[in-house]
Amino acid sequence: MICPICRKELILNDKTAVCENGHSFDISSKGYLNLLISSQSVHGDNAAMVIARRAFLEKGWYSFLSSRINEILSPLNIDSLADLGCGEGTYTASLPAKQRYGIDISKDAIKRACKKDHDAQYLIASIFDLPFSDASLQCCTTVFAPFAAEEIKRVLSDHGYFLLVSPAEKHLYELKEVLYENPYLNPIKPLDTDMTLVHSETIENRMLLANEDLMNLFQMTPYAYHTDPKDSAKLLSLESLSVTAQFLIRLYQKNAAVPL
Ligand SMILES: [Zn+2]
Repeated sequence: MICPICRKELILNDKTAVCENGHSFDISSKGYLNLLISSQSVHGDNAAMVIARRAFLEKGWYSFLSSRINEILSPLNIDSLADLGCGEGTYTASLPAKQRYGIDISKDAIKRACKKDHDAQYLIASIFDLPFSDASLQCCTTVFAPFAAEEIKRVLSDHGYFLLVSPAEKHLYELKEVLYENPYLNPIKPLDTDMTLVHSETIENRMLLANEDLMNLFQMTPYAYHTDPKDSAKLLSLESLSVTAQFLIRLYQKNAAVPL
């Protein structure tokens, strides 16, 4: 790891991480490290959103995604991996790597992540300014978080892997049918990167959600911000709804060997 101020190596002691220039960062009693510096604007998921997401994910609705990610990554024998925008660590906790880091800008999310998973190092930091030196990680993952193109390319070692999970076309379509007059399919765009796409697949599952799960799911989506209260009331009135969860999983490799 590197210092977010001067980019020199960070040495971890019991309670602090310090660089050779004396920049020091406290390791919380819970075990996470806060590497945010004041010039970085803090946003990210608030506590209510983190709680809703955890409640939903703990019921295992998306565990088929977690299993599939692990099946794809396991054969790669990964030593070091960083989960970028890890949230409360639901996916991070089971990723197959000897050394795992979970990075998120939300303190509420990171606090929850450390409570459950003591083996990974969780960091409060920006995924657009990663506290890792160049070419120091074998794999990065981003599950439902923004794509930090430049930083991923910088921190990945040669032939390192990047796994991206994003909503596929029909993800949560039935939820949008309730909320909006003209529901739309999610647009799928090729990723703007010169890394090589080595694997791509779409997986899906139908979930019969009771109202409580449905409302938690709604809270963890961007729709919670953009929906008129009148329309969200329609969801509240439903006893249950069958909803499609559909994910696009893409695996990229940095400097993949090109056949002659
Ligand atoms: Zn420093």
